[in-house]
Amino acid sequence: MPNSDWTTIVGLEIHAELLTESKMFSACPVVDSVTAPPNTAVDPVSMGLPGTLPVINKRALEMAMMVGLALNCEIPPINQFARKSYFYPDLPKGYQISQYDRPLCVNGYVDIDLSDGTTQRIRIRRAHLEEDTGKSMHTMDGSLIDLNRAGVPLLEIVTEPDIHSAEAAEAYARKLRTILQYLGVNDGDMSKGIMRIEPNISVRHKDDTDYRTRTEVKNLNSIRSLYRSIEYETTRQIKAWENGEGVRQATMGWDEAKQRTVVQRYKESAEEYRYFPEPDLPIVEVSREWVAEIRAGLPELPDAKRDRFMNDLGLSRYDASVLVADQSIAHYFDAALAEGANAKSLANWLIGQLFGLLNSNNIEREAIDSIKITPQQFAGLVKLVDGGTINKATGVTVLGEMFETGDDAQQIVDAKGLAQISDTGAVDAAIAQMIAENSAWVDEYLSGKDKLFGPMMGKVMGILKGQGNPGVVKELLAKALEAKRK
Ligand code: MN
Repeated sequence: MPNSDWTTIVGLEIHAELLTESKMFSACPVVDSVTAPPNTAVDPVSMGLPGTLPVINKRALEMAMMVGLALNCEIPPINQFARKSYFYPDLPKGYQISQYDRPLCVNGYVDIDLSDGTTQRIRIRRAHLEEDTGKSMHTMDGSLIDLNRAGVPLLEIVTEPDIHSAEAAEAYARKLRTILQYLGVNDGDMSKGIMRIEPNISVRHKDDTDYRTRTEVKNLNSIRSLYRSIEYETTRQIKAWENGEGVRQATMGWDEAKQRTVVQRYKESAEEYRYFPEPDLPIVEVSREWVAEIRAGLPELPDAKRDRFMNDLGLSRYDASVLVADQSIAHYFDAALAEGANAKSLANWLIGQLFGLLNSNNIEREAIDSIKITPQQFAGLVKLVDGGTINKATGVTVLGEMFETGDDAQQIVDAKGLAQISDTGAVDAAIAQMIAENSAWVDEYLSGKDKLFGPMMGKVMGILKGQGNPGVVKELLAKALEAKRK
C-alpha cells in the first residue's frame, strides 16, 4: 500500500472443476481438456441439443460437499439448480445450469497464516455447483469451439470481501487449492484452467462509510498473476480516486506480457441473467445422515498437517503453514527431511533462499519438482552449512549454482575450493595480516572503541576471501586483540 489512508478490499471467486468421471448432467466422460483432441468427449446433453434432459451427477454433489465441509460451511437441507441465461458461443444451450438462491454450501470460513505471524479468518459466503462451458479458440481462419469441457462439474466458491492485501489473497488461494488437492477433487493445475480465480477489487479510504466501486479481474490462471493484478489494480484505483478521475465498474483481464489490467467491458448496471429455477431438475434434498457420512470420510487436511509439523518438528506456525500450502512443496520438504537434514534449517533455506530463487526466475512454487535441484541435493547443501563445511554466505552462492547446473553441493564446493577455513593457523595468519595493516583501528579499539570489532572481523573475512568460519574467526580475533592489551 503506497498510502496508509487506503485499505485494499478484495473478495475472491474461485471456479474449480471437480475430478468426476462423467459430466455434471450426463454420463458423458470427462477428459483432460488440454490434451484430448477437440470434441471427442461430447454427447447430446453437453452439446445442448433440443429435447435432451439433464440428470444430476451424485459424485459431483458429494465432492462439492466434501469441499464445503472442509471449508467449514453449512450444508442446507435443500439446494436447487437454476438457469443463468446469457449468450456466448461456447454455451450452446444459451444458459448455464448453476445455483442461485439455494446454493449447496453456505457460511463457511478458512483461516490463513500471514508472514507477520498473524492469522486471519476469511469468510466463505457460498459454494455452489454448476457446469463448465466449452472453449472458444480464435484462429486466423475463424473461431473454433471445443465442447469437451462443456458440462464438466464446476464448483464456484465465493468469499466475503475480507481480504485486505495481495499477500492475503495469495495465502487464501494457495490454501483453498491445497484443500482441493488434499481432498482429491481437483489437482490444482491452474495452467490447465481447471481452477480459475477472479478477484473483485476496490479500495477504501479511512473516512469511508461504504464500499467504493469495484472492478473484477476475470479468469486468472496463476497465483502470481492474482498477486500482481491486485497490487496493480489497488495502486491504479488509489491514484484514480486521488486525482479525481474515479473508478468505473468494469470487468478486466490481466495482460501477462505488460503486467497490467486491461478493461474488457464496462458494466453499466448489474447483468441480467434472468435466473429462474431449473424446471428439468428436482430440488436436491440432503439428509443429515448423508452429510455425516461425507464428513466422516474426509482425509487429513492442511491445517492438521501444519499442526503436526509444528508439534513434531518444532517449526513455527508460519513456516509450517507455508510448507503445507502446496502438496508439491510438502512432498519436497518431506523428501529432503528424509535425508536427515535438520527440519528448521531445511524450512529456513527452503522458504528463504529457494523460494527467492524460484521467484526471481518466475517459477511458481508449486512447480518446485520441475527444478534441477532434487530434494536430496537440497538436503545435502543444508547439511554442508549446518556441519560447518561452508558458511551461510557461501551456501547461498552454492545454491544459486546448483539451481543453474543441477550439480551436487559437495561437487561445487570441491571444484571451487569453497570449503570454509576453520584451520586456526590460516585464520591466525589472516588476523596477523589485518592487525599489521590496520594498527590505527587496533589502537582505537584497545582504548575503548568496541564497535570497531565488526569492521576488523570483516577485514579478516576479506583476507580469507569470505570463506572463514565466522565462529572461529570471531573467537581467534577476540583472543588476539586481548593479547594486545597486556
Ligand atoms: Mn460461476
